[in-house]
Amino acid sequence: MSTLKNIDRDNLTPQDALDLLVQGNKRFIENKQQDKNLTQMREALIDNQQPFAAVLGCSDSRTAPETIFDQSLGDIFTVRLAGNVACRKAIGSLEYSCKYLGSKIIVVMGHTNCGAVKAACDNFEEGNITEIIKLLNPAVSEETTTLDPERNSKNTEFVANVCFLNVKKQIQNIINQSDILKEMLDKKQIGIIGGVYNFASGQVEFDHQGPTL
Ligand SMILES: [Zn+2]
Repeated sequence: MSTLKNIDRDNLTPQDALDLLVQGNKRFIENKQQDKNLTQMREALIDNQQPFAAVLGCSDSRTAPETIFDQSLGDIFTVRLAGNVACRKAIGSLEYSCKYLGSKIIVVMGHTNCGAVKAACDNFEEGNITEIIKLLNPAVSEETTTLDPERNSKNTEFVANVCFLNVKKQIQNIINQSDILKEMLDKKQIGIIGGVYNFASGQVEFDHQGPTL
């Protein structure tokens, strides 16, 4: 049983880091997760961490990146907010992960049947939930293929379209609002990619047409 996986974290490329996530997601789908000695891992990580990936995901209880990508302590710097929205505090967390902890790839991960996305599709407003919805509204506006009165959360195709567009929008927010990450992307020190986690299949479907890797 290994303690920390034998990964050359200093020399990983963004593509290498993505490959590790894809391989881990395959193990998760096949229910062939790696053995983990969490006590040994915890002890090995007392003084430092070098998570190879940063994930901006949804808070949904079914979407824990460490589980979906079959990773463990010290592997993924995880930022989770309902709707995987890239607010400035989330972007700041990603900056810290990439610049100071050495993460090589940022994954913005939406998921099927997302309550936050569905709420945005229905123009839901209540308390501070409204603050989340505001950040999802640009994706709703961008979806122009669905016409009224079909533009609501009961329309699964509309919801899926908005979910995918939201992932792309949040990536754009990150790039537009972070000089630190933009520079690291331009220098190919890190990559960024979107993905949607499918509850039914267990697969994270990555957007390989997306901005940059
Ligand atoms: Zn969600």
